[in-house]
Amino acid sequence: MDIEKTVRRYIERVGCASMSCKAALIDMDGVLYDSMPNHVEAWYRTIAPLGIDCCREEFFLLEGSTRTRTINLLFNRAYGHDAPEEVSLALYAEKVRQFRLLDAVKPMPGADAVIDILLSHNVRTVLVTGSSQGTLLECLDDDYPRAFNLPYRITGEDVKNGKPSPEPYLMGLQRAEVLPNEAIVIENAPLGVEAGVAAGVFTVAVNTGPIPPQALYDAGADIVFDSMSHFATHLPQLIDAINTVKL
Ligand code: CA
Repeated sequence: MDIEKTVRRYIERVGCASMSCKAALIDMDGVLYDSMPNHVEAWYRTIAPLGIDCCREEFFLLEGSTRTRTINLLFNRAYGHDAPEEVSLALYAEKVRQFRLLDAVKPMPGADAVIDILLSHNVRTVLVTGSSQGTLLECLDDDYPRAFNLPYRITGEDVKNGKPSPEPYLMGLQRAEVLPNEAIVIENAPLGVEAGVAAGVFTVAVNTGPIPPQALYDAGADIVFDSMSHFATHLPQLIDAINTVKL
């Protein structure tokens, strides 16, 4: 894996002279928490009983989407119109209830090492999640102490347009007070990768789910790792390359 080459390719792609690593904009589900199997199951148990045709796999691909976007997509396919807001809210409440019935979610293996390395290199860590579900947001302070203090926390309730819109990541850059070429995005889902790339940020994908790695490259990922632990072992080298490579 030629890390310097990926940094050089990014610099050429966005047309800047160099980059630096002042902030990391970090997705939550599938990155900080091994929560995707539970989200998928909870969505499936919420939507399938309505008679709406759906399969578990598609919820993996819808990952990163907001409540509104996910539910409207399913409603439009089934009924040809958006879900009324009160229906959408009720369905989301049911999804959260189903999620709570499942086994407790654990932090993603290797994510603590990634956060430690970022903090020890004075990289500002910012949470950028499409989720607005309290279940995991409430655990962040215990599992990742001091990493995501307010205001460095953007959730599905903060943005109008969720991923794959660049809005959440642009807001993350603003909160961290950095430019796109002064940060990295850490994502696991194609829609999230698209959002990071559209915001003009060097986007790392960690493939912690069942999708083929090519789907992450196709979404525009600058580099793909097969786990957070794998990413952690290469992260110091990546930070070094980002801070030194020039065209
Ligand atoms: Ca995710």
